[in-house]
Amino acid sequence: MEIYLANPRGFCAGVVLAIDLVEIALEKYGSPVYVKHQIVHNPVVVSEVESKGAITVENVKDIPNNSVVVFSAHGSPPEDYALAKKKNITVIDATCPLVTKVHNEAKKYSREGKNIILVGHKGHQEVIGTSGQANMKIIDDREKFQLEKEKSKDKDVVVLSQTTLSVRDTQQTVDKIKSIYPNATIRNDICYATTNRQEVTVKLAKKVDLILVVGASNSSNCNRLRDVSIQSGTKAYLINSYDEINPDWLKGIEKIGLTSGASTPDKLVYEIIKKLNPSNVYKFDDIDEDIKFEIPRKVKELLNE
Ligand code: SF4
Repeated sequence: MEIYLANPRGFCAGVVLAIDLVEIALEKYGSPVYVKHQIVHNPVVVSEVESKGAITVENVKDIPNNSVVVFSAHGSPPEDYALAKKKNITVIDATCPLVTKVHNEAKKYSREGKNIILVGHKGHQEVIGTSGQANMKIIDDREKFQLEKEKSKDKDVVVLSQTTLSVRDTQQTVDKIKSIYPNATIRNDICYATTNRQEVTVKLAKKVDLILVVGASNSSNCNRLRDVSIQSGTKAYLINSYDEINPDWLKGIEKIGLTSGASTPDKLVYEIIKKLNPSNVYKFDDIDEDIKFEIPRKVKELLNE
């Protein structure tokens, strides 16, 4: 059996920055440092930062007064910052800059009086954070949706999106929105990491008999990698570890494609390769990805205090 290893895969610049910020906060303030929501959607990453002294909580109300919290990479709504301020909690903001960009778009278009539509998955942490920035309608591409066709002429509509959606499904949703609001402004907010990983996975699906996506079941971009593989005609499964592979999946399979989402540490991919024990491992495709995010200025100022 041969393995074709997708490149790029795994950690993006936003995830690297978020994990670094938890570690920097622990160094500066000592344990415990609270993390609101999983710092990134991967249980191995979460337990590693927790083993160093981080405590993951879902709500700011669960964080003691006068403590330190890192807000996760997915972004947070304004009320979380307001409650933290009220409780004299120091906030290190690890929101990915590409999510902050969407927040800023939402605030700008809201100030301009536009009607904002957010294409995103209801209940996902990023959508909770973005939809808190301004009044907007959320369209979830997993559900049927209806727009008010009769009012389309009066509407000045702008369409934003969650950063980790399927490029293909989002385009289909945007096309439907455009058929109702032909003059809508469409922002492409799906991030470079999501786009690149999907692009390579679509090509990989044409090369192999099966794709294994390594990552957590609550990771949006990992789920979308499995979806795009299946849409491209190749069976695909999302797994956290080798133990989750059903031996039946591998029967008659000669070429396995391996990829991973933006929150998956590469060591998990290598553990799986080792246990699969292939005859060869080939690097597949090569989109250059050397993006790094700087520590945000506000966080730098806070850390220098
Ligand atoms: S997946 Fe994209 S939006 Fe999310 S943290 Fe990574 S770069 Fe940022």
